[in-house]
Amino acid sequence: MAEKQQDNFIWQTEQFADIRILRYKINGFESLQINQKLLLWYLYNAALAGRDIIFDQNYKFNLIIRKTLEAIIIHYRGDRNCDDWKALLVYMKRIWFSNGIHHHYSMEKFLPEFSEDFFREVYHDLHDDQLPIHALQTASELLEQIVPLMYDPSIAPKRVNQEKGTDLVENSACNFYEGVSQAEAESFYASINNLDDEEPVSTGLNSKLIKVNGQIKELVYKADGRYGKAIRRIVIWLEKSKTYAESELQRQIIDKLIEFYETGNLRVFDEYSILWVKDTDSEVDFVNGFIEVYGDPLGYHGSWQSVVSIRDEEATRRFSLISELAGWCELNSPIAKEHKRDDAQGISYKVIQVIVESGDNAPSSPIGVNLPNADWIRSLHGSKSVSLGNIEHSYEMASRNTGSIEAFYLPEQQERVRNFGPLASQIHTGLHEVIGHGSGKILPGVGTPKETLKSYSNTIEEARADLVALYFMLDDKLIETGLIDSDEVGKAEYDSFMLNGMMRQLVRVEAGKQLEESHMRNRQLIAMWAYEKGLSEKIVEKVVLDGKTFFRINDYPRLRYLFGMLLHEIQRIKSEGDYEAARNLVENYGVKVDSVLHQEVLERWKMLNIAPFAGFIQPQLNTIKTDGKIVDVFVSYPDDFTAQMMDYGRYHSFLSAMND
Ligand code: ZN
Repeated sequence: MAEKQQDNFIWQTEQFADIRILRYKINGFESLQINQKLLLWYLYNAALAGRDIIFDQNYKFNLIIRKTLEAIIIHYRGDRNCDDWKALLVYMKRIWFSNGIHHHYSMEKFLPEFSEDFFREVYHDLHDDQLPIHALQTASELLEQIVPLMYDPSIAPKRVNQEKGTDLVENSACNFYEGVSQAEAESFYASINNLDDEEPVSTGLNSKLIKVNGQIKELVYKADGRYGKAIRRIVIWLEKSKTYAESELQRQIIDKLIEFYETGNLRVFDEYSILWVKDTDSEVDFVNGFIEVYGDPLGYHGSWQSVVSIRDEEATRRFSLISELAGWCELNSPIAKEHKRDDAQGISYKVIQVIVESGDNAPSSPIGVNLPNADWIRSLHGSKSVSLGNIEHSYEMASRNTGSIEAFYLPEQQERVRNFGPLASQIHTGLHEVIGHGSGKILPGVGTPKETLKSYSNTIEEARADLVALYFMLDDKLIETGLIDSDEVGKAEYDSFMLNGMMRQLVRVEAGKQLEESHMRNRQLIAMWAYEKGLSEKIVEKVVLDGKTFFRINDYPRLRYLFGMLLHEIQRIKSEGDYEAARNLVENYGVKVDSVLHQEVLERWKMLNIAPFAGFIQPQLNTIKTDGKIVDVFVSYPDDFTAQMMDYGRYHSFLSAMND
């Protein structure tokens, strides 16, 4: 089906800085029913309507900088061929890609590579009414405001700072706190959190914490509150979408979400989440809201995101085998009996085709999502696990034949990774999301991981999910159920995981830096711990060939055993809320980078000339109207990242440059 088209499809359109821009395809959109297409059309618009929010959440001045640069791109009348102009375009593209002036992954502020004089010159080429100046400001005041924000490396150097021993709130540039210290923020939330509440709301999820006249208070994101202009737009589109809901349940879900956006009431958000988990029948599904908390150094405030999707029926049928294994895995997991879930039901899994992503999920996209995040909802009502099939497919298609397998794997590993790597990574994602995050339980009275493990909770949770995946990856049960044909799949995954955790992922880290991002910390933690524990038996061996470092696994079953041991301990840490143990594991294994190996990895990677990060141009939905009424919706695939970003800025931007 559509094979021929896929062959000609351009997966990668360009590469700049450390970024590749890819495209992804939606299969089968044409054959959807008209009501489903209309539903998707309205949800698509609801998704794009919130895009500005993430810029403001990431840094208070992102919107003013973005809008100023966008105005320059539209109106500048001078030379557009000089190097400075080209550098300005790259800076602009990096801002679009990162949803702000900080790197989406390292969190560090990146600086313009065009001169300040050039910037002043192009700025002055514009008329006042072409610039995003607010009422009480002159053009030169705006210029003097943003120049240091862009050029001074000491201002807002980092979006999310996780460095031990510093005030994480005051040293993070993200816009979730203002005039508040870490201690004040923590005691504020401690004072409103009720530890006896068995169904606690996700405190702080939809707000910014500020201090006014010495009083700490929350500015709530809602239709008549903070981000109201964008949220009201989202609500308008959601209202329209309701008419075309696939079921009564889906209509209720949309209603609840609207109620949440209108009231900002976190109890309503939980009610919405519970309904959303129940809906496993609808073909069209979506997330639109304040969801993940990685953008907040303290993990309270949710970044705005949206994903709109349809279910990939064929892939879902295959991978539903994974969710059927949930109960079996819990029973056979190497964790302590008292840390196991009594019933590992309610975990649903599907592969989706993304229609559009926005906010925190775009242009850089996850490949797997498991929601909702509230632990009590997950254990009482279950969770939905989703693999973003067409996104994963695009990554694979774009990275074929880049030479990275030859550069990093031992000769005897290459064939296996080439043959089984893609399937192995899909199964890993499935196990990680469905079984991993859904497994285990917290002992009564312990409190949520956020309360007990604090800033280590994300790394511990990701490590737990990865270890569950790794442990079962080599289980014969996977072959018995027909999910895979041989243990070559599991071995390919072990090779790739150890390589990645020990060294390859370091291509994403600048020389001299340590690991901060929780997924990276988790991967190194697991790989280093297993490597060290197996050192005397040479379970995993460091090999140097022609001056290049490789890792060889000599004993896969023993490595699996080590993964099981670590899983046992990590689950205990989560179940008991053992902060000290979490800190020791993460700090000892997950943070420090071997600087010599790091340098080597960077040099080897540089030879390949592949940008280490990738993100996507979104497909575009278009309507056909007859007598003002939409009669059909179709997809097109834009191929110009800049044009799409400028379009979004023009047609889907609802917050003013200074959103106060
Ligand atoms: Zn995860």
